[in-house]
Amino acid sequence: MDSLNIINNLKNQTINYDSVLLKLIKKWEDESFRPKILLHSCCAPCSTYTLEFLTDYADVTIYFANSNIYPKSEYERRAIVQKEFVEQFNRKNDKHVEFIEAKYEPNVFIQTMTKKGLANEPEGGARCESCFQMRLDLVAEEAHNRGFDYFGSALTISPKKDAQLINSIGLDIQKIYDVSYLPSDFKKRGGYQRSITMCKDYDIYRQCYCGCVFAATKQGIDLKAINKEAKDYINNKTPLS
Ligand code: SF4
Ligand code: SF4
Repeated sequence: MDSLNIINNLKNQTINYDSVLLKLIKKWEDESFRPKILLHSCCAPCSTYTLEFLTDYADVTIYFANSNIYPKSEYERRAIVQKEFVEQFNRKNDKHVEFIEAKYEPNVFIQTMTKKGLANEPEGGARCESCFQMRLDLVAEEAHNRGFDYFGSALTISPKKDAQLINSIGLDIQKIYDVSYLPSDFKKRGGYQRSITMCKDYDIYRQCYCGCVFAATKQGIDLKAINKEAKDYINNKTPLS
């Protein structure tokens, strides 16, 4: 069951992907269908309300596929925070969200962006489009290989991310793999505000830069300090033997 016939009925309109998702959910309910969704997330904040909303209708697995994140220590920190949030969320709400981590291949990301001449693009420009494509492609492939019904992205909850772009990339990728894209705009209907409240409730670490070395450098982020903080965080988590 994919969303294209819903979207095709909205010709010449800016597509409200939140209302497309609501229509899709209505179809699931009409058919007593509870889909399995592989949902991309790059750190815990975007997954908070997204999981709260989606798990009422579907079995959700978070896929942490984020070779864009630099440095490695920060990548590891975000992965730990994401995994711990999923565990706490499950305990608190009696849910069964799963967590899968993809291989971390930062060189692939850096080389791809450099070869494409996108290293100096501003945040929100062509490098980000390519970054969304790379990661959503991995999610779709994994969803296809593992027999999920849908692949999607929690990032549409972020006001800093272009939900129209993410959705159009997802719908393009759906043509390649035998798995449907889950349209979304999770920030709508108070979703973003709810994610801020949930971050406070769960005491979730919120990072100060999107993830890649290119944007961090442009933003003037002190990557040495980030590395130290992340290492301290990880060391405090690892029990001494
Ligand atoms: S978009 Fe930003 S806040 Fe959201 S999951 Fe990715 S890094 Fe985290
Ligand atoms: S700024 Fe964020 S979305 Fe854009 S390329 Fe870097 S990591 Fe990817």
